[in-house]
Amino acid sequence: MESSQECTIDPDDYFHALKVNQSQVPKCTIKKNVLIGYVLPNMPRRYYWKVLWIPCNETLNVWTHLVALIYYMRMLYLYNDSLDLFVQWPLLISLLSSMSVATCSCFAHTFHSRSTFDHCCWMMLDFFGIISYSFCSTVSHFFACSQLSHYARLGFWNIIMFTLNCCIVFTMLCVSKIPYSVTSKRYGNSIRIGGLAYGYIYGILPLLDRFMTVGWDNDAMKYHILSFVYMGLSAYMYASTMPQSISPGSFDIIGHNHQIFHVFSAFAMYYDIIAVHLDLTLPGGPWASLTEQDDHPTLVTVSICGLIVVTWCLFTAAYVAKHIEKSIQAHGEVSCNGFSENVKQS
Ligand SMILES: [Zn+2]
Repeated sequence: MESSQECTIDPDDYFHALKVNQSQVPKCTIKKNVLIGYVLPNMPRRYYWKVLWIPCNETLNVWTHLVALIYYMRMLYLYNDSLDLFVQWPLLISLLSSMSVATCSCFAHTFHSRSTFDHCCWMMLDFFGIISYSFCSTVSHFFACSQLSHYARLGFWNIIMFTLNCCIVFTMLCVSKIPYSVTSKRYGNSIRIGGLAYGYIYGILPLLDRFMTVGWDNDAMKYHILSFVYMGLSAYMYASTMPQSISPGSFDIIGHNHQIFHVFSAFAMYYDIIAVHLDLTLPGGPWASLTEQDDHPTLVTVSICGLIVVTWCLFTAAYVAKHIEKSIQAHGEVSCNGFSENVKQS
């Protein structure tokens, strides 16, 4: 049975999302202190492409990363003209993984609002983008930007550690999304923030070690620090409900915390790409001495480890998706005011 509210909202009206409030959408898609601007749940999938052009609280979430994606693609094109990216492979993987984050995020924010099940599954795609970036940036930092003394501690074997880390953190992120489970209810946010923080901190250890040992050794360090600052700001914005907590309803369409988080994270990835490029190309940069090490990996070795991470992520996401489906079947779709209960998923 349709609710009266559902009947009065015309999905063909350009401004219809401005009439949809928190009580009309799945609980997991609600953003704290963002009162209106939600797209309608339980609509045909093609409806959600509208997120790209109608005023709603996801529009800028998509565009912030879509613009970043186009910019990273331009960077890839320009660097490919001046460098052999298969030889200078840390730059290639930094660029591709930044593009992966932006692409997964764009799709996730476009389609996740359809139902609880869709939200959980699309967010797992978002996590996959983050994990692919985490793996590639960690590999780049260790094999292209670290001091020889730091590299020598674990050498080639550190890539096994990165692979394991990414598989573990992705599993933690996915499990935290199973609705109604103990993990999602009580510890969901903590698991997500803890897992991401652990992965990030492990990834910047070579840079911390370098900064503590030799300080501001070349121009690349300036960009590593800028990337670090923007990543810190983006983590703060991800966890916070600012600025909408100051004035609920004033930042529904433009300016809520997740949009600012996207902008800061896009800058963090941009500065990281610049820093890796400088470390690879500046005379006396760490790359030249690192590649002379007997156990320095090739792009093929890194790709094999990356493939292991991708395979693990695919199987884990498929396994968790089944649990999400069962959980929703057992408890029913979270919805309010008459919006469809127990939505049958296609
Ligand atoms: Zn996002």
